[in-house]
Amino acid sequence: MVMKLARKQVQALTPYLSARRIGGSGDVWLNANESPFDNEYQLNFSRLNRYTSCQPEDMIKAYAAYAGVSAGQVLTTRGADEGIELLIRAFCEPGDDAILFCPPTYGMYAISAETIGVERKIVPLKPDWQLDLTAIGQNLNDVKVVFVCSPNNPTGNLVSKEDIITLLEMTRDKAVVVIDEAYIDFCPEASVVDLLAEFEHLAILRTLSKAFALAGLRCGFTLANAALIEVLQKVIAPYPVPLPVEEIARQALSESGLARMKFQVLDLNANRAYLQAGLGMIPGVKIYEGWGNFMLVEFPDGDALFKATWDNGIILRNSPIENCVRISVGNREECEKTLTFIRNYYQ
Ligand SMILES: *Cc1c(COP(=O)(O)O)cnc(C)c1O
Repeated sequence: MVMKLARKQVQALTPYLSARRIGGSGDVWLNANESPFDNEYQLNFSRLNRYTSCQPEDMIKAYAAYAGVSAGQVLTTRGADEGIELLIRAFCEPGDDAILFCPPTYGMYAISAETIGVERKIVPLKPDWQLDLTAIGQNLNDVKVVFVCSPNNPTGNLVSKEDIITLLEMTRDKAVVVIDEAYIDFCPEASVVDLLAEFEHLAILRTLSKAFALAGLRCGFTLANAALIEVLQKVIAPYPVPLPVEEIARQALSESGLARMKFQVLDLNANRAYLQAGLGMIPGVKIYEGWGNFMLVEFPDGDALFKATWDNGIILRNSPIENCVRISVGNREECEKTLTFIRNYYQ
């Protein structure tokens, strides 16, 4: 009954099927691109009677220093997911404007737009998973925000920087280009952060959920020039950063926190190479080179393999790409268990 009171858009909406909602049971969890490292933090629970600052200065300065931008170019949000929503809410008129994105890619661009009542233009990636710039150019009417994910989830590849520059040139004075860099800490040299100097309509999404091992914290950042950040500040909630989030983020972004993150990234990148090499030796299995803490793997029978691992307590993520399964990079033991199971499965 109450569902009928909801907006039509909301009635029709299928919520994002997160790994957490899908569930599963077992002891190897490689389905949500989470970090296997459960790091320790100190919490000081005083001053909880007071509201927090909307954009805590120390935390913003620390992330700005890490990202190589100025504090005025940083906005913190409840995960990168809130950044996606703010960008759509701030730049797209419901019913008139559209977003554009290029599947297979992250699911939240479509869901946020749908929730807000903003049209979605879909221009699939080319077979090599790079941008189809011609088709994007033909579909830019009414588009106010273009989302590009690099490294892309779930394919794992980097989007060509040259293509991103062409896209930025095509969209100047027309649309905001959002580069989702949720996994960039695993390959920091591939960031497009240097392009902020040239393009005022570029926004970059970052998060502490992946390489910083803080998915449960819900802390993300949007990087952009001050004028764009100011627009987002108009639509953000007044107190988006809970006090414990501020405290933990500051520790994660301290010198020792950053050193630990970089060490863990090296470890995970080595585990990814291990999985890649091991799976690549199994006849019929195709590996795609990945740049985040996950990889896409094509099996002769992806659905059956996904189910077999699931039934044996190894929880992976099925993907919309035929016969492909996305495997998060866990600790060495989890990777070994997974590799051993898959090797035996195909024997
Ligand atoms: C995980 C992920 C996010 C969301 O990150 P949160 O900060 O946890 O909201 C955004 N984009 C991509 C591509 C992701 O994989």
